[in-house]
Amino acid sequence: MITRMSSLFLRTLREDPADAELPSHKLLVRAGYIRRVAPGGYAWLPLGIRVLRNIEKVVRAEMNRIGGQEIQFPALLPREPYEASGRWTEYGPALFRIKDRKNADFLLGPTHEELFTLTVKGEYSSYKDFPVILYQVQTKYRDEERPRAGLLRGREFVMKDSYSFDLDDAGLDNSYQAHRGAYIKLFDRLGLKYVIVSAMSGAMGGSKSEEFLAESQYGEDTFVRCLESGFAANVEAVRTPAPPAIPIDGQPEAQVHYTPNTPTIETLVDYLNAEDLGRTFTAADTLKNVLVKTREPNAKEWTLLGIGVPGDREVDVKRLEAGMYPAEVALLEEADFAANAFLVKGYIGPKSLQDNGVRYLVDPRVVSGTRWATGADKPDHHVVDLVCGRDFTPDGTIEAAEVREGDASPDGAGELVAARGIEIGHIFQLGRKYADTFELDALGPDGKPVRITMGSYGVGVSRLVAAIAEQHHDDLGLVWPREVAPADVHIVIAGKDESVREGAERLAAELDAAGVEVLLDDRTSTPGVKFADAELVGIPTILVVGRSLANGVVEIKDRASGERTEVAVDAAVSTLV
Ligand code: ATP
Ligand code: MG
Ligand code: MG
Ligand code: MG
Repeated sequence: MITRMSSLFLRTLREDPADAELPSHKLLVRAGYIRRVAPGGYAWLPLGIRVLRNIEKVVRAEMNRIGGQEIQFPALLPREPYEASGRWTEYGPALFRIKDRKNADFLLGPTHEELFTLTVKGEYSSYKDFPVILYQVQTKYRDEERPRAGLLRGREFVMKDSYSFDLDDAGLDNSYQAHRGAYIKLFDRLGLKYVIVSAMSGAMGGSKSEEFLAESQYGEDTFVRCLESGFAANVEAVRTPAPPAIPIDGQPEAQVHYTPNTPTIETLVDYLNAEDLGRTFTAADTLKNVLVKTREPNAKEWTLLGIGVPGDREVDVKRLEAGMYPAEVALLEEADFAANAFLVKGYIGPKSLQDNGVRYLVDPRVVSGTRWATGADKPDHHVVDLVCGRDFTPDGTIEAAEVREGDASPDGAGELVAARGIEIGHIFQLGRKYADTFELDALGPDGKPVRITMGSYGVGVSRLVAAIAEQHHDDLGLVWPREVAPADVHIVIAGKDESVREGAERLAAELDAAGVEVLLDDRTSTPGVKFADAELVGIPTILVVGRSLANGVVEIKDRASGERTEVAVDAAVSTLV
């Protein structure tokens, strides 16, 4: 295709927009890719939408390659599934909640675990149907507290979200690894420099969640890495509580440590319920067993966060106080510490608490914490699963360690150094959380139901436009990697002579015929204006057709290196194809 600048819906700006601080934001606005509509809301102009579509194309290709099947949900969703999962409340103020004319509650989807789970439940029922990977490239809504830096943190943004459904843990592992591999391929194709970091303390053992961070000094995530071994982890994920020991209510307290070898939560549920443990739990007998509190370092006040119910879903204190649980559960606020085995799935939030080093007060016999996560489903919370028992044998007590720059890497290979990154992708083993909520089962070969285990995997498609721009620009403008550039060759007509115009048109037509995307600057502006715009817009190759055409020569300039070469006009097309 030949796109003519004389009619292209594009006005470049000489000045940086007043509200922009990051280079990517300034340049995408100045070069006419996007325009601001609202805080965290941007319109895509013709060049911008091309970059977005190119990225989507790469994402789809790599998702299809691992067997992902594309579907599409609405953004406008009913309350009920999110009520069932608890997220209608738990998502907090980041959820856009709206009412329809009949006063029914709706939301604008921030992520779609509930809908995918329900849809698979609706269509599939046999073990033969699994595994399956479904995905969508779709507009998401989150009422972010601080929309930021143009496309980097929008309130409306494009995400690729996929969900895997497997019959067992090994299957989930395969799906997870397949996504990991696909993400590596696609981020490589997009020309990004990135690191894969553990997004939870599992960093030190097998990990169940990893983030892909595009390296950038402007990133919001800080990670530490060991240059010797390649170990990398999100600092947010590996932070652990500081341990001042203060008795509460006359009870000694235990610090929760995470361990590298702790079994997964699924294993523990099985273990605790296993007959050979010589003990059967009933709700009545276990409900009074656990209490989770947090407080800021050195603060007197403790906040009650949750009461654990073995084998059950977590009990949220806010909902407890709002009377959303049966009375007998509410009584458990009186929980004593004469605990025996218990399991807590609780939300330890908000994030500010963790940043200040939250502590967990639990029974003295707590032997391990199993996982922490910042998940796609709980962006502002960490999840903690704690296990305690008489009967439970720990792998050994591991000292709590806050991982910081300058510390030794947990694998002992060297020192940790800190850097910043932009979260461009996140892969996450969900396990059976949503399958439990919606009772997603497959009928096994023996006729017995098998609970499905899930993963969810996100790519910030619109954020990638900014992340790529952040890594690929110079003082003069954008410098797109070929795979995402809005065109392949930018032809600048640098001369008023009719012969120059004709020569450029002919080259454009030949390139077009050879399948090259051409942006042709056929405006009447001065060559100076055209050259400046060519640098700003950032097409990888600039072809200058000017006075030297009379001598049978044109100039090819590589936008990234700045290297210029003169080539014979007859050789120009074959050089560029
Ligand atoms: P962040 O930590 O930046 O808030 P998140 O962890 O909340 O991101 P996820 O729920 O993991 O995000 O969503 C998957 C992907 O969607 C992220 O890895 C990121 O690339 C992208 N994303 C999340 N929030 C936004 C946003 N507000 N604007 C643009 N992209 C976003
Ligand atoms: Mg995330
Ligand atoms: Mg995140
Ligand atoms: Mg978030």
